[in-house]
Amino acid sequence: MLADKDRIFTNLYGFHDWRLAGARSRGAWDNTKALIDLGQDGIINEVKASGLRGRGGAGFPTGLKWSFMPKNDPRPSYLVVNADESEPGSCKDREIMRHDPHLLVEGCLVASFAMRAHACYIYVRGEFIREREHLQAAIDEAYAAKLIGKDNIHGWDFDCYVHHGAGAYICGEETALLESLEGKKGQPRLKPPFPANSGLYGAPTTVNNVESIAVVPTILRRGATWFSALGKPNNTGTKLFQISGHVERPCVVEEEMGIPLRELLEKHAGGVRGGWDNLLAVIPGGSSMPCLPKEMCDDLTMDFDSLSKLKSGLGTAAIIVMDKSTDIIAAIRRIAYFYKHESCGQCTPCREGTGWMWRVLERMERGDAELEEIDLLFDVSKQVEGHTICALGDAAAWPVQGLLRNFRPVIEQRIKDRKRGLAVAAE
Ligand code: SF4
Repeated sequence: MLADKDRIFTNLYGFHDWRLAGARSRGAWDNTKALIDLGQDGIINEVKASGLRGRGGAGFPTGLKWSFMPKNDPRPSYLVVNADESEPGSCKDREIMRHDPHLLVEGCLVASFAMRAHACYIYVRGEFIREREHLQAAIDEAYAAKLIGKDNIHGWDFDCYVHHGAGAYICGEETALLESLEGKKGQPRLKPPFPANSGLYGAPTTVNNVESIAVVPTILRRGATWFSALGKPNNTGTKLFQISGHVERPCVVEEEMGIPLRELLEKHAGGVRGGWDNLLAVIPGGSSMPCLPKEMCDDLTMDFDSLSKLKSGLGTAAIIVMDKSTDIIAAIRRIAYFYKHESCGQCTPCREGTGWMWRVLERMERGDAELEEIDLLFDVSKQVEGHTICALGDAAAWPVQGLLRNFRPVIEQRIKDRKRGLAVAAE
């Protein structure tokens, strides 16, 4: 279990003062000038050495991503922070913004400096009203204390803007987010060009998740060696896990990467409702990640590599626990409806495929399907996956594939039961 001394988020539950004075007492803004003095390459190298992988879902190495930003480019550079946390199950970034917003603001300054950006935009999810208020208040405090802004005490002119989204899931996709920030319809762009080359207003841009940015000042203060000693090789550091569903006490908790799932649930969330043996399945990383049946969860460790070996993923580390009372077909059908609803409609496989998959699952939930349709559904999900402009197509296909891979007998049984029921009724 993570020792208290190794926690980065020391006000996760809002027990203490979230304003500047409170944040300072917990170590934020403590000689930030020394971090800036590491220099741009120095910061990027330290973040690379820490092994930090993006906390927004994809797990791409953060330092490496920063190093893609062009040097000696006449255009301005931008940091954009993705605070559009909309993945069902995810609820960690909101805790940072509500209870420790200064960690994020300080991280924005340091990361922007490392990427030669004088401006940062934080794109906050439309539904996050209180979070935006706290974040804006923290930014105002930082301006007033000359921690950021023109001629600030850190010697790097820096402006930080909060932009409030309008509540579309797709705006969490980085290029849709940039479109929305530019005042356009939030629809993903074709890549390449990637944002590091042509992002916000056509200028070099890096889009990072809230948690990825908020941990940076602490990593630099305590050193890459400290961070990389936590967790597992290639899956280093601490992580905010969000536990919801059929547990005794749903919670958000900071833990070491690679913690066993069972330990995580039992130590922090009071365990699975009705005990571990009552577990049916777990969605390990937000609704887009394929669900895993209990047998796979018994010895599961929560990190990027272990989960991808099981054809699932750590995603945002939003763990949705389902006990044996769950109708797993209904659960995945509900998720399929979410992606159908949130598809922006630009590409045919996603626009048509998400609705098609949802409708088939609706029938399968009732058993009103043919056995051959199970393979057909899998085939169609494969036609959606990887054939779209953005990852929403994959996000819609993976939960369906997880259901078919791991719970095929449940669907078969449902179909057979209905057929038998109809036969009996006909007799
Ligand atoms: Fe829009 Fe879906 Fe295509 Fe993404 S995959 S661009 S959400 S239609």
